[in-house]
Amino acid sequence: MKPKFDRNRLIASLVSAIVLLIFMFIVIKNRQNATVSFNETAFVMGTVFQVNLSSQGKTEDPSAELVNIGNRLERDTLSWRLDSSEVAAINASAGDPQGHELSPEMEAVLTECLRISAESDGAFDITLGALTKLWDIDGWANGDNKGDFVPPAKSEIDEALSNCGYEKLQIKDHRIYMPEGMSVDLGAVGKGIYLDSCRDYLSSGDELRGVILAGGSVLTAGEKENGDDWNVGITDPFSDGELIGYIQVGPWQSVSTSGSYERFVEYEGERYHHILDPATGYPAKKGNASVTIVAKSGLLSDALSTACFMLDSDAAVSLAKRMGAGICIITDDGLVKGDIELIHQK
Ligand code: ADP
Ligand code: MG
Repeated sequence: MKPKFDRNRLIASLVSAIVLLIFMFIVIKNRQNATVSFNETAFVMGTVFQVNLSSQGKTEDPSAELVNIGNRLERDTLSWRLDSSEVAAINASAGDPQGHELSPEMEAVLTECLRISAESDGAFDITLGALTKLWDIDGWANGDNKGDFVPPAKSEIDEALSNCGYEKLQIKDHRIYMPEGMSVDLGAVGKGIYLDSCRDYLSSGDELRGVILAGGSVLTAGEKENGDDWNVGITDPFSDGELIGYIQVGPWQSVSTSGSYERFVEYEGERYHHILDPATGYPAKKGNASVTIVAKSGLLSDALSTACFMLDSDAAVSLAKRMGAGICIITDDGLVKGDIELIHQK
């Protein structure tokens, strides 16, 4: 007997198949669009490193590689304590008439630092190694001498200063030449250089958005989902660990803050902080409690936040403007200056 053709049944099956296909399509699409978050905190280059990123559909977490990038940068390039680094080799060559051959990356970093030194009239100076060692700024960070700190004598400071001065450092034919006793300290730009490497790594791969923090420096990665600017918190220089407000920052910018509250020691009621004025050899006293710089380049924002801290606020604002960066200063009197608006927390 010929089976009876059931038209209704066929239609029902077809409809179910179509519904199932639509359902599967929606599930797969949603999975592709699902937001994945990557959050990581690590101790890198002597500071707290934090990744807060998200992506649509990306499954690979970039955090481990970002941490590796920082560790490699410290070990191979920037550290002046580890013998393995290029900075250590450069410092060991001081006084050698043959100089020292530079990697292309280091040559680019040093050349840019020397440009910023010249533009800031020497307020920013990477050749202060002898001076930062004398003040033992690294020791303060470790908490080594917080209790028994005594500021160095004026004669010791003058002696250290005689071994400093960016104009005495020369770069020629990819080699660096430094006088005996001089040593390079890239402490003011390390975190900015790190953020530049993070930006290069992230912007070449899948689309990620969020922020990356390295100590007091921040990288805004990509655009916010709704196209708004990122809100970057600014530390209250007068209140330990609290935020005073925030600034608004576009995509792929570096934000760096230098402040006298960040690292300091006290002696006989006086506070000594870690940003040294190359003109005097003493911690800078120009009436600034903190200086925040926003720039595309992390190196520039980090260098300028240090340099501008050492200038009075009008000179700092004009230097930042000249170098194409945004600035927000909080003065010792609590005034806010510069072209970037500080939005106070409600
Ligand atoms: P932080 O690293 O705490 O954010 P900065 O970026 O302002 O602070 O860098 C300060 C570090 O830079 C100091 O610890 C010291 O190693 C170095 N430094 C201090 N004074 C100067 C200066 N005038 N120019 C360049 N580097 C400096
Ligand atoms: Mg800096």
